[in-house]
Amino acid sequence: MASEAVKVIVRCRPMNEREKALSCKAVVSLDSPRGQCFIQNPGATDEPPKQFTFDGAYYESHNTEQIYNEIAYPLVEGVTEGYNGTIFAYGQTGSGKSFTMQGIVDPPTQKGIIPRAFEHVFESVQCAENTKFLVRVSYLEIYNEDIRDLLGADTKQKLELKEHPEKGVYVKGLSLHTVHSVAQCERIMETGWRNRAVGYTLMNKDSSRSHSIFTINMEIYAVDERGQDHLRAAKLNLVDLAGSERQSKTGATGERLKEATKINLSLSALGNVISALVDGRCKHIPYRDSKLTRLLQDSLGGNTKTLMVACLSPADNNYDESLSTLRYANRAKNIKNKPRINEDPKDALLREYQEEIRKLKAILAEQMNTNNLSGLLPAETTQLEVKPALLPEPQPDVEAEKQLIREEYEAKLARLKADYEAEQESRARLEEDINTMRTSYDLKLSTLEENLRKEADAVLRVETLPDQAPLSPGPVVAVTETEQVSTKDTAEPQIAQYVGSVTRESPGAEVAIGAEALPVAVDQQQVLARLHMLEQQVVGGEQAKNKDLKEKHKCRKKYADERKKQLVAALQKIDEDSSDWVLLNVYDSIQEEVRAKSKLLEKMQKKLRAAETEIKDLQSEFELEKIDYLATIRRQERDCLLFQQLLDQVQPLIRRDCNYSNLDKIRCESIWDEDSGCWKLPELVMQKTSLPAAVPSLPQTKPARKSSSGENGELLVVSCTSPPGP
Ligand code: ADP
Ligand code: MG
Repeated sequence: MASEAVKVIVRCRPMNEREKALSCKAVVSLDSPRGQCFIQNPGATDEPPKQFTFDGAYYESHNTEQIYNEIAYPLVEGVTEGYNGTIFAYGQTGSGKSFTMQGIVDPPTQKGIIPRAFEHVFESVQCAENTKFLVRVSYLEIYNEDIRDLLGADTKQKLELKEHPEKGVYVKGLSLHTVHSVAQCERIMETGWRNRAVGYTLMNKDSSRSHSIFTINMEIYAVDERGQDHLRAAKLNLVDLAGSERQSKTGATGERLKEATKINLSLSALGNVISALVDGRCKHIPYRDSKLTRLLQDSLGGNTKTLMVACLSPADNNYDESLSTLRYANRAKNIKNKPRINEDPKDALLREYQEEIRKLKAILAEQMNTNNLSGLLPAETTQLEVKPALLPEPQPDVEAEKQLIREEYEAKLARLKADYEAEQESRARLEEDINTMRTSYDLKLSTLEENLRKEADAVLRVETLPDQAPLSPGPVVAVTETEQVSTKDTAEPQIAQYVGSVTRESPGAEVAIGAEALPVAVDQQQVLARLHMLEQQVVGGEQAKNKDLKEKHKCRKKYADERKKQLVAALQKIDEDSSDWVLLNVYDSIQEEVRAKSKLLEKMQKKLRAAETEIKDLQSEFELEKIDYLATIRRQERDCLLFQQLLDQVQPLIRRDCNYSNLDKIRCESIWDEDSGCWKLPELVMQKTSLPAAVPSLPQTKPARKSSSGENGELLVVSCTSPPGP
């Protein structure tokens, strides 16, 4: 299996107001055509700048559009072909991770990678021929080593990580949302984004202290030229990591400091995983050390195409952090992944849908004249066969359609309301969402009515043709969905398509419904509704005939390839320049040879000096890291001591007949549970010894006692439920 290195690019943001106010100097410079980044130590200006080479280097003059087109595009395109992909942003707080991943709306060139990926995915989906897609998204957050579903009914609930022999690591109970359009994805992203935990540090007052992963899951059903079908599955992880800065610098205290420790814990774990992967001698890769590394396991050294965006601040007061980010990124580019197309996924929902659609169609076929069936079912291609002369009265189906839209609307409304209760403060935004949805509901209804009107017109036109035989098939009219609705939202064409199909019901169906009893008609309605619902889940090929869009799509692909070639050529040139000492040169004179060799010597000495500084730097960086770790250990020891002292104080108060009075024994019996990330403690048990009554003839005065005492001298064990967790 061919391996492929993790792609790494750097992006340096412009100086911010705070840095300008502090009169900071820029220490980062870039050579974009060669993908090189230089950083000058502000404390040692006589030293040469440190140099790093990546798959791309972007400065303030570059925008996210360019970054996406040059490097992210091929990766996301790969996802639509069945490869897994991961894009993650790394860097200190305030360096531009969220700016790169989420982005801003104005100017449009700075729209983030995540919304661009939505547009890209749906462009590919719509241009695809003979292919259908099921696209579902999820959005989670890792905050203080707890996983929460940002799109779930309860965003506060902690979710568990599980491992499946075939599926790999997954989050149990994470909600997946089927999407049909870019607009829908954007709305979902916004909802999730609002649910993220937001912290407050000196470096960036509204920076998020959590890691977030937005995932686009795709199932792809394609039929090749030979008529063979293929089922594939792929997922695209879009990861916005929390800040990588050292705790001492942020001025964090209390809760914030605790957060920082945990953030650093998973980022250190990520760093350790990267180091272990790069170091060929390492057999054990410590994926299990944090939730983040477990979730990204496949993206680092696994079956995934991965891109890391290392974000930097140009300012001299961030030199240490920027250098550390560059080193991190430099190590990551040596990771080798083994991406492959995920053929024939075992648990594909699309397969189940396909199966059910087939069954439903069979049921319908049984119920009515098969010759006319095609007119009843929503067509799988973008062309619908229209038989205008045979149009039945459309009313019942329209009602069903209205009902469907209404149900969809009500379901969404209910979900939004649940969100509202969970998060009272976002009331204004929620109302905005409800309004948007109401507009969309109205729009769908009006589209439906508009189509009906068109149908009625068509019927009128056909009825005025005197030579049209009532039962002969009418002319086949090709209806492209884009004629009826806007191209932006693909959910709309599907509704229109359905309207088109149900209102163009064949007379056979009409006869069948008319001839049989009412319950059958109701059944048919149900089958149709279900069929429609299933077919609505799936998207693909809506713009397969749109030559312009397809051409644009192809050009973007070519552009990324060209850029890659240019970079390789530029880097090759550097290699040639630096390898001239290997070549055996013939000199005309001794002087010439001395001159050439002195120049070479000078070059080598420069390199040696750079290497020596690097060693010194690394040692001092390790030293700083050690100080950080030791501070963390000392703080945790103090915490432990506090708990120990508290326990010592309260232990004499624990009843002797309770098993928790012997804490050492409890400690031995406790088991660490990796999945839930907490200790499983023994159950709390009370051991009651009841002694024989002094005067057996005396009547019992306390009936409550009676129920809890056994035979004379018997040892009774009363089990109490212990509180969950540590
Ligand atoms: P992070 O997510 O890494 O903590 P942000 O993405 O929130 O940082 O960026 C911090 C601030 O810097 C934001 O106000 C953002 O708009 C600005 N910023 C980041 N990168 C750029 C850039 N390339 N161009 C312009 N502004 C940027
Ligand atoms: Mg951020």
